Amino acid sequence: MPLPSKQLLRPFSSLLAALVLLLSALPAYGAGTGNERTSGTGFYFDTVVTIILYGAPDGLMEEIWNDCEYYENLLSKTVPGSDVDRINHAGGETVTVHPETWEILRRAKEVSDTSGHAFSVTIAPLTALWDFTGGTNRMPTQTELESALPLVNDDALVLGDDFTVTLPEGMEIDLGGIAKGYIADKIAEHVRDRVLGAILNFGGNVYAVGIKPDNTAFRVGIRDPLGGEGESIAVVTLADLSVVTSGIYERFFDLGGVRYHHILDPKTGISADSDLASATIVSESSMTADALATACIVMGRDAALDYLTGLGMNGILITREGEITLTPGFEDLFPFTVLRTY
Ligand code: ADP
Ligand code: MG
Repeated sequence: MPLPSKQLLRPFSSLLAALVLLLSALPAYGAGTGNERTSGTGFYFDTVVTIILYGAPDGLMEEIWNDCEYYENLLSKTVPGSDVDRINHAGGETVTVHPETWEILRRAKEVSDTSGHAFSVTIAPLTALWDFTGGTNRMPTQTELESALPLVNDDALVLGDDFTVTLPEGMEIDLGGIAKGYIADKIAEHVRDRVLGAILNFGGNVYAVGIKPDNTAFRVGIRDPLGGEGESIAVVTLADLSVVTSGIYERFFDLGGVRYHHILDPKTGISADSDLASATIVSESSMTADALATACIVMGRDAALDYLTGLGMNGILITREGEITLTPGFEDLFPFTVLRTY
């Protein structure tokens, strides 16, 4: 039986988030009680955001888009006056940020520490040298890399009392590898007690809240890194957990037989050339999962497997050849079905 749905379509320029709003909505269905499905799509944080709610009250979808706007304005590098913009342009001075921004940075530094800086939130001077979306397919020069590499150093990012942040002049932060996870956590928290279930998808950061109307757990497809868009290599069943995948197929270009993608090795300044094509982390904390998934791509399969196991985290590592490795005990915790093997 098809479930009634309310469609929201909101294309959004992440740079001009406050200016452009195009909303097309079918008439609201029912009074917002029961199990009906409501869905909406928006563009925030440089990615497509898809929200599916079951049994949501009227207005909840709108509240979610307001949250997205709030976090874009707080955390985007490209929004003038955002916390990240203020940190990046403080010229070495100490700035006071919102407690939420401070908390993300605290967690980012923790993951940076434990991953041997495979995850580095001060990666911005390196990401600025690359363009994975514009089609220019340009490699940074050796000189550019040599001047940017010393500016990537998470130990030099100092978090003080009273939500202060100090960053040496010339350095910049980029929350691209962790912020979507934090936002997914916050929006999951926002909707949790007001819906029967929800699937919140922030471009690879999925949060499955509650259950489906038929009382079954959500099944989340794991993208086949060797397949096309929308093709799954496996399916994992879970409730009230986040599933975050980082992959080298998201944003990339090929040059001279090499795949250059948007996850950079902070030690070389070049796209991570590990054996992993994707890393998926399952966790209650989408923020932790987000940062860890990025770190795993840099580390490669063996180091990532040791790292996740040591932290007691659950994950799925897929090599460039399509070989799947699960962390110990994964299948005891989550029903897992492989759809394709290589
Ligand atoms: P996505 O944003 O596609 O979900 P990730 O979570 O893996 O993927 O984040 C990739 C983004 O994180 C990049 O676009 C960049 O902004 C930033 N980034 C790239 N390399 C690193 C790194 N080694 N550590 C931390 N952040 C990184
Ligand atoms: Mg990430």
